[in-house]
Amino acid sequence: MTTQQEQDRIEERLGAVAERVARAAEDVGRDRAEVRILLASKTHPASTVRAALLAARELDLPVLLGENRVQELTAKAPELADLKPEWHVIGPLQSNKVNHALRWAHTIASVAALPLAERVSRRAVVTERTVDVMVQVNVSGEESKSGVAPEDAVELATQVAALEAVRLRGFMTIGTHTDDDDVVRAGFARLRAIRDEVLASDAPGTAEATELSMGMTGDLELAIAEGATIVRVGTAVFGARPAP
Ligand SMILES: *Cc1c(COP(=O)(O)O)cnc(C)c1O
Repeated sequence: MTTQQEQDRIEERLGAVAERVARAAEDVGRDRAEVRILLASKTHPASTVRAALLAARELDLPVLLGENRVQELTAKAPELADLKPEWHVIGPLQSNKVNHALRWAHTIASVAALPLAERVSRRAVVTERTVDVMVQVNVSGEESKSGVAPEDAVELATQVAALEAVRLRGFMTIGTHTDDDDVVRAGFARLRAIRDEVLASDAPGTAEATELSMGMTGDLELAIAEGATIVRVGTAVFGARPAP
C-alpha cells in the first residue's frame, strides 16, 4: 500500500527530476522531449513503482522502467501490467534467465557479449517477436562495472545488429565513479562517439541504434550535455535504497 503522503512525495520528486532534465537539455540547446526518464526501481516494491507511474501520468511525463535483476522484474511486472510500462533490463543478464526476462522486458539494455544477444534472438524467433536491445559499454574501465570494452563496442554492436529478431536501439553505460566532472563527461562522450560510428557505418540493422541510455541521479546533467536520450533515475525519485 502507498499512502497519499508517499504518493505526493514521489510526485514532487519526479517533478523535480523532470525539471532537472528540462534545464539540462535547455542549457545545451536540446529539446527536453529528446530525453526520456527511466525509473530504476531496484529494491523498491511494486506499490512504490506504481505510485511513480501514476505520478508520471499526473505530470504528463512518459517514463520507462528498469530492473537490474530478472527475479525482481518477474516479481513486480505482473503487479504493474495494467499500467503497461516499458521495462528495460539494465543489469547483467545470464543466458539462462533470458526466457524469464523476455516475458516482461521490452528492451535488454545490458548486452555486453554476443552469446547473450544470440540467445535473445533465438528466443525472439521462437516467440515471433522482435526484441529491442542496447549494447552496454564499460566506458570507465572500472572492473566492478559490466559492459564491453569501448574498443570492442563497434564490432559487437555490428554483430548484434545483424542478428535475426533483435533490433539494436543504441547503447548504455554507467558513468565513471568520480567527482571529476570532466572524466565523467569524457566517458559519456565516448559512448556517443561509439554510437555515431555505428550509425555512420551503415552496417545492416544499425540504422535505429540512436539511443544513449546514460546518466543517473548524480550525473544526469553531464549525460544530457553529451547527448543522453534516456536517463536512468532511482534515488532522486524513490529516495535512498537500503544498504545491500
Ligand atoms: C541503480 C541504477 C540506476 C539508478 O541509480 P541512482 O543513482 O539511484 O539514480 C541507473 N542505472 C543502473 C544500471 C542502476 O543499477
